[in-house]
Amino acid sequence: MANAFTQTRPLWVAVIGSGPSGVYSAEALIKQTEIPVQVDVLDRLPTPYGLVRYGVAPDHQTIKSVTKVMQKVLQDSRVRFFGNVYFGRDLTHADLRQHYDAVVYTVGASADRNLGIPGENLPGSLSATEFVAWYNGHPDYATRNMKLDMQGVAVVGVGNVAVDVTRILAKSAAELGKTDIADHALKVLAGSQVQDVYMLGRRGPAQAKFTTKELRELGELPQADIMVRAEELELDEKSAASIASDPPMLKNQEILREFAAKPLQGKPKRVHLRFLVSPVEIVGDGKVQGIRLERNRLDDNLSAVGTGKFETLQVGLVLRSVGYKGVALPDVPFDAKKGVIPNLGGRVTMEGKVVAGEYTAGWIKRGPSGVVGTNKADASETIKLLLEDAPNLSPAPQPSLEAVTELLKVRGIEFITFEHWSVLDHHETAQGQAGGRPRVKVVSVEEMLQLIREKQMLPSS
Ligand code: NAP
Repeated sequence: MANAFTQTRPLWVAVIGSGPSGVYSAEALIKQTEIPVQVDVLDRLPTPYGLVRYGVAPDHQTIKSVTKVMQKVLQDSRVRFFGNVYFGRDLTHADLRQHYDAVVYTVGASADRNLGIPGENLPGSLSATEFVAWYNGHPDYATRNMKLDMQGVAVVGVGNVAVDVTRILAKSAAELGKTDIADHALKVLAGSQVQDVYMLGRRGPAQAKFTTKELRELGELPQADIMVRAEELELDEKSAASIASDPPMLKNQEILREFAAKPLQGKPKRVHLRFLVSPVEIVGDGKVQGIRLERNRLDDNLSAVGTGKFETLQVGLVLRSVGYKGVALPDVPFDAKKGVIPNLGGRVTMEGKVVAGEYTAGWIKRGPSGVVGTNKADASETIKLLLEDAPNLSPAPQPSLEAVTELLKVRGIEFITFEHWSVLDHHETAQGQAGGRPRVKVVSVEEMLQLIREKQMLPSS
């Protein structure tokens, strides 16, 4: 017989991850009126919002205002937030199947892709993922000993993450001091010796992944001149044809040509935007001292092919910004090659067959592409299928408001509710106010918990 969910026995859904795709999944569940729902959103960190807090650049506060919408969802009476709960350890896959009718995995893509070239593991070669997480105060990266005592930095890749890290390196402490950049990062950036940041695209300008707004910003940096080589902007026939009816791409070419024609203004730093160069080796004796590049041309498929011509840039830091990669979750199917949970429109699959009651949305579903808002449509697609399936799902044996909280308490897990987070949120924004900043982030989990304990708000306190 088909399940008939009611107000007293609603459809119980666990969402794993409270970034945009997790919160948009919860939103899609509570927005519909056909099936009564109860949604628990779990996150391994005490803080909600995922990449909005730890990925979006600190000088892009307008993007972060999406948290106002996300907050409303997490405060809805049918939604509970459980922060500081690690999936696979504090709550296992088996636990979730015991207490929820359906599970939605929205954990994003937390690892980074490698270049696969010699010297990649030298000290001073790191992923943009690490650098971004460090300056955004992600607890896992806050204690990194980051040094910016070099003149040159190479940023490999020409996507929006590469633009973000380049911009942060090219801004002054005065500019960054108005943002919610982590205090430890602000200190290091204030003493930065960096003068030249090289952004390296392996293909041509018509294949660059950055968006127009982000590109334009690179030409408006008060402390850094933008340098583009006119000869690297020349398009081959195929590239020109590929963007002929793509207005944003055409706009990008126009902006790049303006950059190339712009006289240097003698600013203290320089952003060098390069195309058709591939890193072939990161060189250095015990630490990064340079990056060897091969000049490329494009083949018929618009792929980069080496020309056998090389150059070496003197840099002391290499940030690899060549895309994120998903990480497998315990007891959840995973496609290691693609770095995603295999799925059909959001229904999790194993060896091509749908796994009943398991769903996925966001980067771990489709790969690391798109902006924050892209996840809304993606989550809706998944939730539509979940709701379609709901009448025929195997009902959870133990659905109740208390079951999960009791289990966590018995296991000694100091879970963070949305009310707890609000205390922390208020603390951070109050700290920021004094210095005219949006917030001063607390960057250690223990300190976050301590602050909440002081308010006597945690179950164990
Ligand atoms: P991305 O947009 O996929 O860019 C990755 C870049 O790395 C591309 O230029 C790619 O070049 C290059 N690359 C890949 N493998 C390489 C290799 N082996 N050698 C040299 N270059 C290599 O990824 P992302 O920058 O990490 O961004 C992820 C998503 O987040 C994107 O959708 C982005 O728009 C979004 N995002 C948005 C914002 C914003 O809205 N402000 C900010 C940050 C991120 P090929 O094209 O040649 O592969």
